[in-house]
Amino acid sequence: MMEKEKIEIILEIIKREFEKWPKELATVKQMIEVHNNEPFKSLIMAVLSTQTKDSITSKVSKELFKIAPNFEKIIELNDEELEKILKPISFYKRKAKYIKEISKIILEKYNGKIPSEYEELIKLPGIGRKVANVFLSHVYKKDVIAVDTHVHRIANRLKWVKTKTPEQTEKKLYEVIPKHLWKDINLYLVAFGQAICSYKPKCNICPIFELCPYERKNMPK
Ligand code: SF4
Repeated sequence: MMEKEKIEIILEIIKREFEKWPKELATVKQMIEVHNNEPFKSLIMAVLSTQTKDSITSKVSKELFKIAPNFEKIIELNDEELEKILKPISFYKRKAKYIKEISKIILEKYNGKIPSEYEELIKLPGIGRKVANVFLSHVYKKDVIAVDTHVHRIANRLKWVKTKTPEQTEKKLYEVIPKHLWKDINLYLVAFGQAICSYKPKCNICPIFELCPYERKNMPK
């Protein structure tokens, strides 16, 4: 079987299984509706989510959006109030500053519309390569591959790539993944990484066990 064909089959299986996983097994599922429909919320959640568990990001974001459902309202919050809401998030003080600055810039420079170009997005405070690509692929459906630790780990276990850093993985994945799958990779592999192929992989319940070349000696009994 051709490598690209095998990758398509693996992703098809993961997508199919993904639909069946309960929310608590794949917290990223809770973020999909937001990602699909509301760019404002999606961008704020993407900034808050770095180095923070999705379940915490999801909970804190819900609280935040109750009182600040748009960029205008974020700016109106005083610093103390905003920091109090964001407290469970890692680096909450820094992120509180970021989302206020982002809100001001989007309103003043972009007339309230979040830019859809990578080069513009990464100029915003708190938005690096991964966050920009997650946003562009999930919200604007752009053909980009967003690589985080889950995507990096799983792509290496499946031997799609042999790399040391997420940046190297991103570059290699553009060569081996068929283009029509680029924007979906992050969503499905993050969920798969949370539910099954985690740091300690649950190979005994893995739906792609037969297709996975990961050395069995590394697997837990
Ligand atoms: S078999 Fe194990 S290592 Fe391979 S993809 Fe499944 S959980 Fe990950």
